[in-house]
Parts: sequence; structure tokens; C-alpha cells
Amino acid sequence: MSEDEARFLVQRHHAATLHFDFGLEVAGVVVSWSVPKGPSLDPRDRRLAVRTEDRPVDHVDLDGRGAAGKLTVWDSGTYRNLTGHDRPVPMDRAVRNGHLTVWLDGKKLTGAFSFTRTNTRAGRQEKWLLVKKDDEATLQSELDGLRSP
Ligand code: MN
Repeated sequence: MSEDEARFLVQRHHAATLHFDFGLEVAGVVVSWSVPKGPSLDPRDRRLAVRTEDRPVDHVDLDGRGAAGKLTVWDSGTYRNLTGHDRPVPMDRAVRNGHLTVWLDGKKLTGAFSFTRTNTRAGRQEKWLLVKKDDEATLQSELDGLRSP
């Protein structure tokens, strides 16, 4: 599957506490985060996203860890990698670097979102922040990238 057709999936997970499981298909696995408050469409919101274990792609619509509780699909679709604008960074490297920007084409979530790793940890897990990008600014920077030699 090409990166252009990679899928994303957001599930509501009714476990001990309600949270959202956010998964992006990257290089043959589903890179996953647990987002306590869920994604926001407001660029002013910074949502905590705790990195969880990568899951197998063939379990893209399952919680691969067999976690307790009820999972329901909240949104799904495809995404494009926008990381790096005019000097594109492959998704697997962007995840390792701790910063990525993706354009989501879902039913609820459309537009550009960024995931940025912070230098704090929740136990052994990485804390990231999930933020909706200002789409006009993101589109303009994409266009600027296309125009640059
Ligand atoms: Mn979960």
C-alpha cells in the first residue's frame, strides 16, 4: 500500500476510563496513541496523546492488545503525510523524530493535524500532543512548497 492510501482509525474505548484509540498505518504497522479527551477540531486545543504499542495492520479495526472494554469506531479514513512540506519526511522517520503532520480524510476529522512528542513521559510511555492545524496556513505552506524550485 502506498503512503497516499494509508488509513487512520479512531475508536472510542469504553474501558476503566473512556478514551480514544488513534491509529495511523505507517510502514506496515498501526502506530497508536491513547487520547483521553479525543481529537479536537479547534486549533486552540492541545490534546494529550499517549503513545501505545504498535499494532498489526490486519488488526486495524481491532484493539490488538485484547484490552478489556467496548470499542466502537468513531472515525476512519485515509491520510496523507504532510511532514516536512517541501522536504518531505517519510512517516516512519517522522514518528521516530517525534513530529508529524498528516492530512486526514475522514467523516468527522478532515484537515491537517500534527502529533508532537513532548519530553515528558507517562511511566514508560511517550507523551505526545495532538493539535488541529490551521488549514489555510497549512495549505498555503503546501502551495509554497510546490512553488519552490
Ligand atoms: Mn484503548
